Amino acid sequence: MSAAPPPIRLAINGAAGRMGRALVEQVRGDARFVLCHVVTAASGWADAPALDVVVDFSSAAGLAAALEHCLGRDIALVSGTTGLDAALERRLAEAAQRIAILRAANFSLGVAVLTRLLRAAAAALPDWDLDIAEAHHRDKRDAPSGTALALGRAAADARGSTLEALAIHDRGGARREGGIGFAVMRGGDIVGEHSALLATTGERLELVHRATDRGIFARGALHAAAWLRGRPPGAYTLDDAM
Ligand code: NAD
Repeated sequence: MSAAPPPIRLAINGAAGRMGRALVEQVRGDARFVLCHVVTAASGWADAPALDVVVDFSSAAGLAAALEHCLGRDIALVSGTTGLDAALERRLAEAAQRIAILRAANFSLGVAVLTRLLRAAAAALPDWDLDIAEAHHRDKRDAPSGTALALGRAAADARGSTLEALAIHDRGGARREGGIGFAVMRGGDIVGEHSALLATTGERLELVHRATDRGIFARGALHAAAWLRGRPPGAYTLDDAM
């Protein structure tokens, strides 16, 4: 009988935030991990101990700092942070040649399935109008959400195009044929809702996901962290870990 692997030495970046707090709570009862370090905007990375995986839900600046720390020490990185600019996206792509990085705009299993369903519907109904709507709590910074954009990207790809070519963010005037429209709502403490509406004359199809508890994202991110430990360098997605 082979011995169980030692627990994964984990750090949580953005530990004082909504997601960070959900992660700290969940990881404490999870024997796969030992929580070695927590990073907040104030603490930074000084004095961090040896680590296997960093889980990041912070900000673009927080992710950039975590990435530098991981690169210098061959630590795997799981990140759910959204709203990154093109320069940071490029740095992450380059970094994935040296360390293992798994990113997802949404770590819920339901959204992973929603994405697959939308891909199938967008391809099967290529001429139907498609809009993606999302709602989040009043403090969310980026809009549309990273998940809404990822859904749009999946649908555009299923229709043989790109989101850059099809996205409609400014809704003035009549609907542009073949475009993918986005609608954003912000308010209260909404954890995260996403819906895709496919419509044609006389009928419509709606696909909806509602998250009511941040614990689902934390669970998905910890599953990804356990899967990522010891993997070779690369840019991984949640699909790889499912
Ligand atoms: P939040 O604002 O509650 O928390 C973010 C935390 O990061 C704050 O405590 C902030 O002080 C901290 N932070 C900022 N800069 C930092 C730095 N340089 N170093 C360390 N910490 C820093 O936000 P949240 O709701 O927890 O979301 C965080 C991010 O995760 C956002 O980008 C959000 O869109 C994303 N998110 C992703 C998923 C997913 O499943 N992928 C789910 C929820 C939220």
